[in-house]
Amino acid sequence: MHDLQQLKRLQQVAQRVYHTVGFYRRSFDEAGVKPEDLKTLGDLKRFPFTTKQDLRDGYPFGLFAVPMSNVVRLHASSGTTGRSTVVGYTHRDIETWSELMARCFVAAGLTKNDIIHNAYGYGLFTGGLGAHYGAEKLGASVIPMSGGNTKRQLMILQDFGPTAICCTPSYALNLAEQGQAMGMDMRSLKLRVGIFGAEPWSDKMRDEIENTMDIMALNIYGLSEIMGPGVSMECTEGREGMHVFEDHFLVETINPDTGEVLPPGERGELVFTTLTKEAFPLVRYRTRDISRIITAPCRCGRTHHRMDRVTGRSDDMIIIRGVNVFPSQIEAVLVGIQGLEPHYQLIVDRVGTLDTLEVQVEVSDALFSNADEVRVLQKIERRINKDLKDFLGITAKIKLVEPKSLQRFEGKASRVIDKRQI
Ligand code: ADP
Ligand code: ZN
Repeated sequence: MHDLQQLKRLQQVAQRVYHTVGFYRRSFDEAGVKPEDLKTLGDLKRFPFTTKQDLRDGYPFGLFAVPMSNVVRLHASSGTTGRSTVVGYTHRDIETWSELMARCFVAAGLTKNDIIHNAYGYGLFTGGLGAHYGAEKLGASVIPMSGGNTKRQLMILQDFGPTAICCTPSYALNLAEQGQAMGMDMRSLKLRVGIFGAEPWSDKMRDEIENTMDIMALNIYGLSEIMGPGVSMECTEGREGMHVFEDHFLVETINPDTGEVLPPGERGELVFTTLTKEAFPLVRYRTRDISRIITAPCRCGRTHHRMDRVTGRSDDMIIIRGVNVFPSQIEAVLVGIQGLEPHYQLIVDRVGTLDTLEVQVEVSDALFSNADEVRVLQKIERRINKDLKDFLGITAKIKLVEPKSLQRFEGKASRVIDKRQI
């Protein structure tokens, strides 16, 4: 039943991208496949992948499948320079997204009688508006808080009495911590449910959030390329994974090294094909997120398969306080500054509830033996800080180190040391 609907939609989307998006015509032709080759769902594995690089090459609107006059909304992925990923939505895409986010809220046990405190960032980031439209679709009362301004958030949590909160799991902990520091009893708030996502977290963090806030904490997953939040969502019954909305997204898991499709249950990289999107349809988009598909039936009765928590990535992207960054982007900032060597190391940690980033970078020999050393070094440090903030939107602790003091790599450099215990 499921499969028939998916197949029909898949055939339609393949036809559409082949005839409207130059990139897909070229990539299907190169791979020697035609939309008509899709006779069964299994035929999809012969089709080429779409990668983040393909989206970057098409920056900003190159992969749109409709004219701009039909696009009613644009979003872009976080924390990137000019060439971030830009996504577009038609009226119907926004309708679908709202519908799916509303489903997420229903899966979390919410109804029109709930008040939803939405602390996902509003703006280019998909989190804020995505959750907002879904909450309105449900008929709940939304508080469009956006991120930041923690004291005000706490006051509103107390005064407006929201029954649900949406934000990143690390921000939930941060709110709880600051609330407690201000003498608030976080457990006595009216909050009943938290819908947390946009970054990896663990069952240990779930326990901590649930205990400090006396709520049920649920996991939500999504990415801008595929839609935004609401690609999959946990239900209140079976919290071992998130139901993927398979009537709109077809999910595969692949071996990230060979590209080979893995059987359900095996851990690998998630690959999504959008089945109904109009403005920005994607075929076999490689997410780089590592997870596995759970086909066991769920106690809630939903028949959509579930995906396990995302446990890591098959690339080196790091998420620091909700901002996605690649080491290569930090490198691009560093090489733009005189006196630095292209040897660096990134150390990610979590202090209390906040992610921290330390950038260690070698200075050049010439600079190191300069008489004015200290003053010059301080100036460079300030410059790095400013550029990281301006270009990538991240704050970091900078540690300038002696020439040749950082570890050298044979083969692929591993720039990131992630000490977070999450
Ligand atoms: P953003 O702008 O939300 O950071 P992106 O679409 O750029 O949005 O980021 C999406 C990425 O965030 C996903 O590919 C995944 O790595 C991560 N992510 C989103 N939700 C979750 C989640 N529930 N658990 C783990 N990682 C998540
Ligand atoms: Zn379920």
